[in-house]
Amino acid sequence: MATPFFDWRRLYDEHAAEYDQIFQRVGRSGGFILQRDVDELEERLARLIGVEHVVALSDATNAMILGLRALGLQAGDEVIISSHTFQATAQSVHWAGGVPVPAETGEDGMMAVDAIEALITPRTRVIMPTQVNGRIADMDAIAAIAERHGLLVAEDSAQALGATYRGRGAGSFGAFGCFSFYPSKLLGCFGDGGALSTNDAELAAKVRSMRNHGANAAKMITEDCDIWGTNSRLDNLHAAVLNHKLEHYFDADIRRRREIAAAYHAGLADVPGVRRPPPPDAPDDRFDAFQNYEILSDRRDGLKAHLAAQGIGSIVQWSGVPIHRMRGLGFSQSLPRTDAYFEQCLLLPMNHMLTDAEVGETIAAVRAFHGAETPAAVMAAAE
Ligand SMILES: *Cc1c(COP(=O)(O)O)cnc(C)c1O
Repeated sequence: MATPFFDWRRLYDEHAAEYDQIFQRVGRSGGFILQRDVDELEERLARLIGVEHVVALSDATNAMILGLRALGLQAGDEVIISSHTFQATAQSVHWAGGVPVPAETGEDGMMAVDAIEALITPRTRVIMPTQVNGRIADMDAIAAIAERHGLLVAEDSAQALGATYRGRGAGSFGAFGCFSFYPSKLLGCFGDGGALSTNDAELAAKVRSMRNHGANAAKMITEDCDIWGTNSRLDNLHAAVLNHKLEHYFDADIRRRREIAAAYHAGLADVPGVRRPPPPDAPDDRFDAFQNYEILSDRRDGLKAHLAAQGIGSIVQWSGVPIHRMRGLGFSQSLPRTDAYFEQCLLLPMNHMLTDAEVGETIAAVRAFHGAETPAAVMAAAE
């Protein structure tokens, strides 16, 4: 039995006939750019996230670039970001004219709140944590720091659609949030896609105009424009697929991810040398969406090789390189807590398509490598 980390083909095959119908409907309608499906998606997402405005965009990276631009980031302004994040977070700050400043990673992989204030300088404008793995950082503490220092908050919530913290959705905490519909994300389309979320009507209007060369509902593309824009539109075809998933599958898919997280949590209890992420039912007023299931192993590289030998795919996120180690991007920070985290972190297979047998087999393989006996019930599930 082989368990790929992510089965790209199954993503289409699981509902192929329905997707084929959507492709035909959109194709035959002739509506390809900024049509009804895009409007409908924006309304659906705004309800799900709990914000006033969502602007559908080409991807999450551009959502952050345009969001930061719309905030009026000036050349040299500093943005404090997570060190456990995709390089897109830092790249967005750079392309918006700012300077990304990575903060330490806490025990749960989120931006370490106690490390933020030491990074604040007169040039700091924004604190932009990454809601990594489908979990939300301690946003109350981050908001308090931001308020104390007169800073804005924004979120790289690309991995956290549907996650909540104290009843509030990822992407609803600061000036804006962003989301990615890359195929392997919590809500994926068959290509690139993204969105920006905000409660700021003016920011939403700016980004809406920026995504379409400065045009808006009252102004055509070829007319004189009053804002620097670009092309960062979401294709109508992708929006149609995303609407279908939101209507029929998204809630169940997240439920399934949380079920798998609960199985990993129980199955990996008492394994020497392994630390688990907080379980889905932790009493911390969070609803984690489990984009990823990231464990820490004191023999991570050996464990990864052992899993591979059993046909089980696993991934060290960002290929094991936290953002401050990407020397080509000009970072010089020393972040020992993040370095320690990255010596141990490993993503086990996590997506709604996994079977119980695949999850059980993965649990048994981790336990075997770390010298823990596997209970009979887990063995039976993996048969
Ligand atoms: C996927 C991802 C992005 C980038 O999303 P795109 O839609 O590919 O631009 C940014 N940040 C994080 C944390 C991500 O996981």
